[in-house]
Amino acid sequence: MPYLDENTYSMLEFDREHLWHPYTSPTNPLPVYPVVSAKGTKLLLADGRELIDGMSSWWCAIHGYGHPDLVKAVMDQVQRMSHVMFGGITHPPAVELGRLLLTILPKGLTKIFFCDSGSVAVEVAMKIAIQYWHAAGKPEKKRFLTIRSGYHGDTFGAMSVCDPVTGMHRLFSGFIPKNLFADAPRCRFHDPWDEKDISSLEVLLDQHSNEIAAIIMEPVVQGAGGMRFYNPMYLRRAYELSRKWDVLFIADEIATGFGRTGRMFACEWAEVTPDVMCIGKALTGGMMTLAATITTDQVAYTIGNGDPGIFAHGPTFMANPLACAVSRASVQLLLSSPWKERVLRIEGILEEGLAPCKDLSIVEDVRVLGAIGVVETRETVDVAWLQRLFVERGVWIRPFWKLVYVMPPYIITEEELKRLCQAICEVMEIWNQKLT
Ligand SMILES: *Cc1c(COP(=O)(O)O)cnc(C)c1O
Repeated sequence: MPYLDENTYSMLEFDREHLWHPYTSPTNPLPVYPVVSAKGTKLLLADGRELIDGMSSWWCAIHGYGHPDLVKAVMDQVQRMSHVMFGGITHPPAVELGRLLLTILPKGLTKIFFCDSGSVAVEVAMKIAIQYWHAAGKPEKKRFLTIRSGYHGDTFGAMSVCDPVTGMHRLFSGFIPKNLFADAPRCRFHDPWDEKDISSLEVLLDQHSNEIAAIIMEPVVQGAGGMRFYNPMYLRRAYELSRKWDVLFIADEIATGFGRTGRMFACEWAEVTPDVMCIGKALTGGMMTLAATITTDQVAYTIGNGDPGIFAHGPTFMANPLACAVSRASVQLLLSSPWKERVLRIEGILEEGLAPCKDLSIVEDVRVLGAIGVVETRETVDVAWLQRLFVERGVWIRPFWKLVYVMPPYIITEEELKRLCQAICEVMEIWNQKLT
């Protein structure tokens, strides 16, 4: 362990004693690394080491850290008005962000509900779906149909449509609603399409459509539920079936939105306009938290014309001006950048750079889509051990379950990306050697 000064030591001690971290024990947590600043594609550790960021802070920091345009947007807005309630008030940042989003969202999505995090955006989408059918005179339609290996957030409604195993439904059974799970798509992104793939979903619609409010799924990329890339025809068929069986279609684009898969939104791979879409994560460019649930006119008018007419949800920090201002700057920056070329370039380098892992017996699969690279292992990773090996190699990669994956900022250089890939190959090789 490199030298730690007294401040850092005491910070780590306090953290370990008093702060909970994501997905770890509150009393015997996985180790954490003290980061004191971040700039561009680099995280700076308290001991002076720099790490190349492979995670974009969980899909968010697409422009890297501390981009001057985004910093300026925050500084300008914070001086004018950091926050004001959205009840009975509107403000330029919300309106300008709304205008900009409508120019890039799939055509037909027009009504925007700003929320404070991705999970809340999913809760709002689910409430909208149930209220829609209530207003349409079919109040019995209040269950959700989804696919296994999905992830939609950590609050209760969202959790009820996460994969039952990784979402730990058993632990909370009796409290979370029992929803319907079709098999996860088998046809991978580049596989030829097989119509049989959709049959599990179709059977459930056939049996339960009268009680289903909506299908909810992550388009094309299943993120935290398994980092799986499935054939866009599956999305297309699922959407078509939602029309046939009269259920709403909710696309959770919280991870995939804003270019990550090579399209602005992953729905575009199947030319689908969902009834409801959730966005978040990269919306602010990773500067702070903001998400949104967007619906078609048809959904909004049905709710507005029905009983009780209002939609009863309103986060305290709804449409926070600071978050809206920086989101607008982030989307503008994305649109003015060659993001498609960048994502394609990243895809090519990841394919080449991760390919050597395929030959290792510890590796089950290597897959790449857009600016996402995944090495799936045959055994569950020892997070603390792998994490240390990555940090020693000057890269920030956070594995979980059987997944070692990267989704770097779009601005990453070729050299940095090659170093990320090389670190993954080296670490996989070390693990592989331990086996033999
Ligand atoms: C991260 C994520 C969420 C939850 O977003 P939070 O901001 O963490 O609440 C929901 N759906 C998908 C697909 C995600 O990747």
